[in-house]
Amino acid sequence: MWADPATIAPMTYAVQLADVSFGYGEDFSLSIQELTLKTGEMALVSGGSGSGKSTLLWLIAGLLRAQSGSITVAGQRMDGVHESATDRIRARHIGLVFQTHHLLPEFSAQDNVALALMAAGEPEKSHAARARDLLNKLGIERITVPVANLSVGQQQRVAVARAIACKPTIVLADEPTASLDDASASQSMDLIQQACQEAGAALLCASHDRAMQSRFERVIQVDSFATTKRARAKPGARA
Ligand code: ADP
Ligand code: MG
Repeated sequence: MWADPATIAPMTYAVQLADVSFGYGEDFSLSIQELTLKTGEMALVSGGSGSGKSTLLWLIAGLLRAQSGSITVAGQRMDGVHESATDRIRARHIGLVFQTHHLLPEFSAQDNVALALMAAGEPEKSHAARARDLLNKLGIERITVPVANLSVGQQQRVAVARAIACKPTIVLADEPTASLDDASASQSMDLIQQACQEAGAALLCASHDRAMQSRFERVIQVDSFATTKRARAKPGARA
C-alpha cells in the first residue's frame, strides 16, 4: 500500500549524527553521541582555534569520513555509502561557504553559480536565468566578468549565491567572516542568515569569534565532543 503523500510528515531533521567518532591519528578525536539540527534551524559551532569546528563541518559535508557512527543529511546517509553518492548528496543538499571563497577565479559569477546548479543536477536550461536572478538579488551587478576582478566582499556574495543556489537543506559556513573587518563581517552574516532563511536552509556556522554567539539561538560548543591527547596545536593548523 502506498502512503498518501499528504500524510507524510515534512522532514524534521536537516542533519542527524549518532555515535560518531573520528580521529586524526592519536592526537585529536571527536566523539559525538547525538547531534541533530532541525529543518531550517540555525546554530553556531563555537570553540577556540584547533577545537574541531572545521572537522565537524567537514564530517557532515562528507569531506572527511567518520571511523564509526552514522551521519544523515536530508534523510540520506552520508557515511557507509560510495563516495559518488556522498558527492551527489553534497551537491544536491549542502551549500558550503568558506573563509576563502573557493570560487573559480577565471570564471564569471554567473558561471560559478551555474556550475553549482549543474552539479546539483538542475535542468541545464534554467541555469543562466537562475544564476542571474540570485546574483541580482544579492546585489552583484558584474556577473559576467571573472570573479577574480571583483572585491573580496563581492566575491563573498557570489560564494553565498553559489551555496544557496541548489536550495540546499543545510548551509555549512566555516569561519565565513574571518577575513573581513567588523562592519563587513556583520553585513556578511546578515546576508548569510537572510539567504538561508529565504531558501529555507538550516545553517551551521563555525566561528572562533565569541561575538557571533548573540546572532544564534543555539550555540554548539565543539569542545564538549573533543579529546585532545597533545595540548600543543600543530604548526599550520587551520584557524
Ligand atoms: P578548528 O576548526 O576548531 O580550528 P580543526 O577542526 O581544524 O579545528 O582541527 C582540530 C584539531 O585537529 C586541531 O588540533 C588540528 O591541529 C588537528 N588537525 C586538523 N587537521 C588535521 C590533519 N589533517 N591531520 C592531523 N591533525 C589535524
Ligand atoms: Mg577551522
